[in-house]
Amino acid sequence: MESVLKRYFGHSQFRPYQKEIIQKVLDGRDCLVVMATGSGKSLCYQIPPLIREKTAVVISPLIALMQDQVMSLKQRGIKAEYLGSTQTDQTVYFIAESGKLDLVYMTPEKACSLCESFWTKLLDSGISLLAVDEAHCISEWGHDFRKDYKRLHQLRRFLSYVPFVGLTATATENREQFFNQNLVQGSGRYCQLFEDEEPYIAIGSFNRGNIFYGVKSYNRTVSFVDELIGEISNHLAGGGSTIIYCTTIKDTEHVFEALRNAKIKAGMYHGQMGNKAREESHRLFIRDELQVMVSTVAFGMGVDKPNVRCVIHYGCPKSLESYYQESGRCGRDGLPSICQLYYSRSDFAKADFYCGESISEDQRKAITESLMVAEKYCLLSTCRRKFLLQYFGERAQFTSCGNCDICLGSKRERDLSRESFLLLSCIHSSGGRWGLNMPVDILRGSRSKKVVDNKFDKLPQYGLGKDYSPTWWKALGGVLLTHDYMKETVTDVYRTVSVNKSGLQFLHSSSSQHQPPLVLPLTREMIE
Ligand code: ADP
Ligand code: ZN
Repeated sequence: MESVLKRYFGHSQFRPYQKEIIQKVLDGRDCLVVMATGSGKSLCYQIPPLIREKTAVVISPLIALMQDQVMSLKQRGIKAEYLGSTQTDQTVYFIAESGKLDLVYMTPEKACSLCESFWTKLLDSGISLLAVDEAHCISEWGHDFRKDYKRLHQLRRFLSYVPFVGLTATATENREQFFNQNLVQGSGRYCQLFEDEEPYIAIGSFNRGNIFYGVKSYNRTVSFVDELIGEISNHLAGGGSTIIYCTTIKDTEHVFEALRNAKIKAGMYHGQMGNKAREESHRLFIRDELQVMVSTVAFGMGVDKPNVRCVIHYGCPKSLESYYQESGRCGRDGLPSICQLYYSRSDFAKADFYCGESISEDQRKAITESLMVAEKYCLLSTCRRKFLLQYFGERAQFTSCGNCDICLGSKRERDLSRESFLLLSCIHSSGGRWGLNMPVDILRGSRSKKVVDNKFDKLPQYGLGKDYSPTWWKALGGVLLTHDYMKETVTDVYRTVSVNKSGLQFLHSSSSQHQPPLVLPLTREMIE
């Protein structure tokens, strides 16, 4: 194993898990590999065929990605080709089925449409493994869902006893949930792929220590795009490239234009561009002919570019899973890199936007909940890395990572007992069935119809909070949510806030002289 690693790839040591996974594949076991982007998953399916001298079949979602991998494997003297709609050379198919290749890449569509004789011929010469890269595309809920991924298990008809290896960087909320959702026999997301009753599962650490995580709020103004340009110009000066993720195609085009006008070498990538134009953008980016790629989330599945120094999110992503994956595309070479997220409060109300029309109630709820976690991440006043890791079910041994905006920033805090009392009691008095805007309106003495119709202008808290802006109050709401003094409930598309148990305790004990002050961290919005 080590000599193959050295000879073909020039590395002298395996990274964590690689060796174990390769060994299991050689033993004929099915494997599920869940490891962070950049942790070296590819080698897990590239080395076994070289040792066994039998072809590995690799299912991969994008032609551009396959072309890159095939090219770099060929440069290492490894026999690799891809089969896809753009592969017109018929001899490649003959070479592939005769088993002369070390690796043959194909899209799931291609894999499902190849005839039985292809597989039987290839199997006669021997198949070392079948790898399903970006295996989370099997899931119907993700943005990346691909119909043909769901059909891949049909290949089992031709390929029994071939080890199947699923690889993904997408984890779910916690490990236990992950096992339940993905691997419970008969119903799990991945289990149809596996013949093994108990496939070997490798889940790596999700900590990417070289990545700095930062979050800032923004206003949708023209000058904001200028600020964005200022920010990336700093990064570009140091070399390497930047990806800017936008939440809509319109934003993508807008930012792209602005960068072009600022003489920055930028490319664009989104779902409404033609295949050719997209592949061209991708190629230029990979070859360092572009400094910045402005794109929707459509860009990046498998973007293997070691020197992406900076990933910017213009708008809050729809879930922490997608945020983690997109942000993980920087710093693959292990050098310090930056992930900066810009959110505006209106981003958090976008569940509808992400849902579309034809969607079940359960799906809508799941999407809204994901969005709420992303919101929580934005409004954090504690270490962002710790939050991310815990979300993915990893125990973080630290309270402060030293490489996120919170840990590095001058984290200020002060006694917010009075303000918290006002907000919580106002939420409680107005019945706990409104969004955060209502109590803020009441505190600020608004005469809006909703306030007056509900007689909230008669509440004792009415107008007592005029000395703070609505933004300030909402930020305090965010802090009280994260510190578990109140909770947010999703009903259909609305979100309501209510005071929970510890919030009520706080309210009850506030009249007592001995109540200690409620010291809470101040978010950026509360300081500015
Ligand atoms: P993933 O598929 O998990 O996102 P890759 O397989 O693309 O990650 O690997 C990311 C980078 O790490 C690549 O540049 C690769 O060359 C490098 N790499 C992988 N394994 C090793 C190793 N054992 N030693 C050194 N570098 C490695
Ligand atoms: Zn931190």
